[in-house]
Amino acid sequence: MLLYEMARIPKPLGELDLIEQIRRDFAAESKTITLGIGDDCAILRPPAGSEVLVTTDFTLEGRHFRRDLHPPESVGHRCLARGLSDLAAMGATPLAAFLSLALPATMLAESAGRNWIARFFSGLRALGELHRVPLAGGDTSESPNGKAALILADIVLVGSAPKGQAMRRSGGVAGDALYVTGQLGGAAAELSAILRRNRRIIKVTTTEGHPHLFPEPRLDAGEALLRRGLVTACIDISDGLSTDLAHLCRASGVNAEIEQDALPIHPLAAKLGTPAALQAALHGGEDYELLFAVPAVIPIPSSLAGVPITRIGSFTRRRSGRSLMTLLAPDGSRTELQSGGWEHFSGRKKGRKKSSR
Ligand code: ADP
Ligand code: MG
Repeated sequence: MLLYEMARIPKPLGELDLIEQIRRDFAAESKTITLGIGDDCAILRPPAGSEVLVTTDFTLEGRHFRRDLHPPESVGHRCLARGLSDLAAMGATPLAAFLSLALPATMLAESAGRNWIARFFSGLRALGELHRVPLAGGDTSESPNGKAALILADIVLVGSAPKGQAMRRSGGVAGDALYVTGQLGGAAAELSAILRRNRRIIKVTTTEGHPHLFPEPRLDAGEALLRRGLVTACIDISDGLSTDLAHLCRASGVNAEIEQDALPIHPLAAKLGTPAALQAALHGGEDYELLFAVPAVIPIPSSLAGVPITRIGSFTRRRSGRSLMTLLAPDGSRTELQSGGWEHFSGRKKGRKKSSR
């Protein structure tokens, strides 16, 4: 019986029943998993000659999603996508995912709640199957505070990369060309439309064309970049281009110039008109594209693993008194590009403070 079917049975779901259902739903054969859900630990078998990469991400109700707006499939999808995108940024291949989940007791007791849980797992499983990432363990707990209890999901992704070859943020040098995968600003544009509408999304028939609800982590592109061995620095754009580019610049000890005209604007952002589209592309978070640097003399194809690649600027030498990041406008004028993402669900600009997204 799948979680989906279980959700329809009118009896409260115990914690152990839930774990047993997860184990059955996610029972997957994998060469890299010697032992999955069911024991005290999972046992993983990374490929010979590889290193193990680990990343964790919180998904908190009210911070990363709203139960009254987001379809549960999207919450499960995004929970896994965030971890997968971190693996993609380093060129890693996923080995396994681990999910620690705190759920309000009322959700297990009521059929609407069980239905939410089943749909959450169905979104998570669909993306996991697409990228062949087995769920190999986790933890399940009751979230306190009665009716005010919140859903909290913490995901751990384990991946592998050939020894010494994982892409890092720190290897860029002045003169390197900067590229992004895919398009920018789509997630922020879709999110602002969802917030404006302020109504629950009952059903989404396809995950395509929903950059906020169903972002596509760039695992294949990341692995392809690692295989080519040309990338000097790489990061995934989770907090917005301006924020993540600053991380890349600081880690590499360089400055950067971005050409406004070169930015690949997502069609959903383009519909907002130029100033808002530019805001979304520069500062909107959660696009989950890759931003990477390659020595300028090396030609890079216009697409990798089916994803378009666009050159958007370059790294420059760090000089005292020069801004870390500069935006070159179409008329040739130069302005300082400041980091600034958007505060989720508030519509407020975050300013320059570090984001926890
Ligand atoms: P322990 O008390 O030894 O930590 P648990 O009873 O919490 O074990 O979990 C039993 C098994 O179920 C373990 O293999 C654990 O990894 C798995 N598990 C528990 N919760 C989840 C979850 N939310 N998702 C996936 N696996 C889970
Ligand atoms: Mg134990």
